[in-house]
Amino acid sequence: MKKAWARSPTCTEVPMRLNCPCCGPRGLEEFIYRGDATVRRPDPAASAREWVDYTYMRDNPDGWHHELWYHAAGCHCWLVVRRNTRTHEISGVVRAADVARASAKDTGS
Ligand SMILES: [Zn+2]
Repeated sequence: MKKAWARSPTCTEVPMRLNCPCCGPRGLEEFIYRGDATVRRPDPAASAREWVDYTYMRDNPDGWHHELWYHAAGCHCWLVVRRNTRTHEISGVVRAADVARASAKDTGS
């Protein structure tokens, strides 16, 4: 018996909703994807190589990933969303400002 290959669902097959911490659950059409939330802007004095990497080089994650989303048709908050790139399952949405505040506290800056 032939084994059928598992196929990841597409965005149109899985209606995505984000649970905005400010506005509650909303349809994906209210949000704009703004990229990888794990990338950090280099120091202004960083080398050209570091700036090129920051600007153009991105991973293509398979599985759980932290992403930046902007609630354009809502509260205008920037959000960090933990999403599975295979299944589109979402396991967490937090305000990016809260993440930045916690990170600054951890580093003491
Ligand atoms: Zn919102």
